[in-house]
Amino acid sequence: METILIKAEKEQQCVKLAGECLKKGGLVAFPTETVYGLGADALNEEAASKIYKAKGRPSDNPLIIHIADMESLEKIVKEVPQKARVLAQRFWPGPLTMIMPKKEIVPLSTTGGLETVAVRMPNHPLALHIIKAGGGYIAAPSANTSGRPSPTLAKHVEEDMNGKIDMIVDGGITGGEIGIESTIVDMSVEPPMILRPGFISKEMLEECIGPVAMDETLMCVPKDKTPKAPGMKYKHYAPKAEMQIVEGEIHKVCDSINKFTANWLEKGKKVGIIATDETKNCYEKGMVKTIGSREDDRTIARNLYAVLREFDEEDVDVIYSESFSQGSMGNAIMNRLLKAAAHRVITVGEKEE
Ligand code: AMP
Ligand code: MG
Repeated sequence: METILIKAEKEQQCVKLAGECLKKGGLVAFPTETVYGLGADALNEEAASKIYKAKGRPSDNPLIIHIADMESLEKIVKEVPQKARVLAQRFWPGPLTMIMPKKEIVPLSTTGGLETVAVRMPNHPLALHIIKAGGGYIAAPSANTSGRPSPTLAKHVEEDMNGKIDMIVDGGITGGEIGIESTIVDMSVEPPMILRPGFISKEMLEECIGPVAMDETLMCVPKDKTPKAPGMKYKHYAPKAEMQIVEGEIHKVCDSINKFTANWLEKGKKVGIIATDETKNCYEKGMVKTIGSREDDRTIARNLYAVLREFDEEDVDVIYSESFSQGSMGNAIMNRLLKAAAHRVITVGEKEE
């Protein structure tokens, strides 16, 4: 299959072509304010199942349906709980996905066999236009091969999806603001429960609707428990190299990474280091990339996936990353980083607050 690439500047043409393609059951990757999504008509069983094939995604990992207005929500969920209305009013369009009991019209192939459906309204004008033009209900997981870092540039989508999908809409870097996937909250339980941390933090949700729980498996994986969002149990966001997170007092972290790096270099291996503006000059050897300032969790979140992919391009064998748990996006960043590192964490000295 030939994959057509269109620049988002030609907005009308983009929306028209993407809409037609989606309505015919095709696959279109488009930018959102979080990462690039791989869209298909969510109510068309066959179209939705093509997403799984293109991504190599396990079929029990449900898709998020993207909508462009509130009326669309009423058509696909049995009932909109009052708390969901409050959150929609406050955070939609935006990086918040809510799970509710589904109506019959939503095929089980979209929900991975579940009786609930995940819904989000993205805060990106072009995405909203494409969703509308495509029929109003677009399943759109991140447009990467399953298990790889999510795409924040059209070239990342091309790397993974060229020849496998109909169209890529190139809107430049996504997440001018955000750059990691939406916060997912299960509204079908009481209290509502966060199944994936994101830009919208627990505190922000609680300010609007009172107590919110957090799936306890998100930041660590206890051996006897599986995460509640099926997708969170898979290895994900991972670069090709083996990655390790080094946490602790920052100068000890730098010293340790320098020692580890020297050891690998002696063995002829290529080493990548994920550093920050504050620490980049502390590293003596290896390929050092800064992810932004420690003071700026938003920038760190926005750069995370691109840095992981850059190290793939450089063919490094091992990656060491500092730990970034501070700021309101700290949980979301560490959730992705821990998965990318398959939970390999080395603690040196005292743990950093
Ligand atoms: P992605 O589309 O790659 O951003 O991933 C979507 C995430 O939403 C995965 O982790 C899914 O497991 C999760 N998800 C989607 N629908 C549901 C649902 N009905 N119940 C629980 N988790 C869901
Ligand atoms: Mg994904």
